[in-house]
Amino acid sequence: MPTASERIPPIVRPLVSEKARNALDLVGKLVNEECLTSDPVYSAQLGQGTGRWSYPPIMADLNKRAQELGLWNMFLAKGHYKEGAGFTSLEYGLICEQFGRSRVASEATNNSAPDTGNMEVLAKYCTEAQKARWLQPLLKGEIRSCYVMTEPDTASSDATNIKLTIKRNGDPYILNSQKWWISGAGDPRCKLYVVLGKTNPDKYGQQSIILVPTNAPGITVKRMLSVYGYDDAPHGHAYLIFKDVRIPAENIILDESRGFEVGQGRMRPGRIHHAMRSIGAAEEALRWLLTRANAEHKKTFGKLLSQQGAILQCMAKSRIEIDAARLIVLNAAAAIDAGNAKTALVEIAQARVLVPNMALDVIDRAVQIYGAQGICQDTPLTYMWANVRTVRIADGPDEAHLEQLGRREKKRAPAATTSLEKQLEMTDMLFRKYETMESGLCSRL
Ligand SMILES: Cc1cc2nc3c(=O)[nH]c(=O)nc-3n(C[C@H](O)[C@H](O)[C@H](O)COP(=O)(O)OP(=O)(O)OC[C@H]3O[C@@H](n4cnc5c(N)ncnc54)[C@H](O)[C@@H]3O)c2cc1C
Repeated sequence: MPTASERIPPIVRPLVSEKARNALDLVGKLVNEECLTSDPVYSAQLGQGTGRWSYPPIMADLNKRAQELGLWNMFLAKGHYKEGAGFTSLEYGLICEQFGRSRVASEATNNSAPDTGNMEVLAKYCTEAQKARWLQPLLKGEIRSCYVMTEPDTASSDATNIKLTIKRNGDPYILNSQKWWISGAGDPRCKLYVVLGKTNPDKYGQQSIILVPTNAPGITVKRMLSVYGYDDAPHGHAYLIFKDVRIPAENIILDESRGFEVGQGRMRPGRIHHAMRSIGAAEEALRWLLTRANAEHKKTFGKLLSQQGAILQCMAKSRIEIDAARLIVLNAAAAIDAGNAKTALVEIAQARVLVPNMALDVIDRAVQIYGAQGICQDTPLTYMWANVRTVRIADGPDEAHLEQLGRREKKRAPAATTSLEKQLEMTDMLFRKYETMESGLCSRL
């Protein structure tokens, strides 16, 4: 079997350093030999009822192992953060593909969302005091955090709709409103909410982001939400109420009115990480598909499934789609490395739309090939599908990205000032003129 670094697409290989290739192989080995085998243990260690919101002990063992191997906090990109492992976006993207194959790998190595995005925000925008209080324990994996933006009573994909109020009253800010789909809030180690709200509802630059300790008086969990029936314990997704929550003014990030800028900066690179994890999930689904297709004990009409033309087509289509999608994401990562996440907007949006849709198709083919077994708890395919399906909404809905891409594409088209009929006449005229010129030239020769 080729190692992870031997499978880097040839076209991007020159962009990957030796240090990154070594790390990629180590991550691939960790995922193959320790994370994939830990996945079912992790699920089994999750308790029942309230016990589900405690921490499966196997994760502490995996954290220790990843730290011993030096595979820790690999997400902070080269050139942007002094705290990081020093990989480019493209190199880290390749590493994320390996993480995406296992349920536990990202967290085992302290590279899991939403902490990664929050740590990027803290490293990039926060004061030394804010970093000492929140970034350092997050980098060590001692605490967890949430990103708190979405609200139940607004269309939250348009961040201008956000209603949570952050009002100044003497020194503290006072926060009021409701938030939901707050991932990670069920984890008992979660100590920080990075909250987006409005400080100046009537002015340009309405939004601000403020750091809120999870034990601040006035915050309550109304209920936990499930994803296609999965509770995603021990992290979960919470519906939170903020009632007169008093937070010191020093906890604001950068300044009032800079929330939108900080929020956008946080999300764009994360989309590459999610996309590459989805590629990893698709690869893993294809591996499951191949295992079933070659199962000697489950032949149909005397043949292995892998001897049926229709199944071979499924395999071929899946391979083509995964490899094509990987190149789209790596292209976006290379564009970030060449400029920044803002200059790579188009490439990031392309990857964000294409990849989860591709991964869902591949996972669904694997489900189909397993028959009834594919839709029950016996394989990771159902959880994988539910997880990837949420990306089409959670990371900004597909439609919003498509609209943004469509608008840019539209601008490239010249304004149609004449009818198509007229344009054809003009082409015809030019063609005749060219023919006359050419025959004149030939006669002179
Ligand atoms: C599993 C999961 C985890 C999440 N984790 C977090 C978290 O940790 N923190 C957090 O703050 N939020 C989180 N979210 C919420 C997520 O960010 C929002 O669901 C997302 O931004 C969309 O907002 P909305 O649900 O309010 O949908 P809306 O904004 O109401 O949009 C609904 C639908 O309208 C359509 N639509 C929207 N815009 C357009 C457009 N421009 N053109 C055409 N159609 C459009 C789309 O079909 C879209 O799906 C999570 C969501 C999920 C599912």
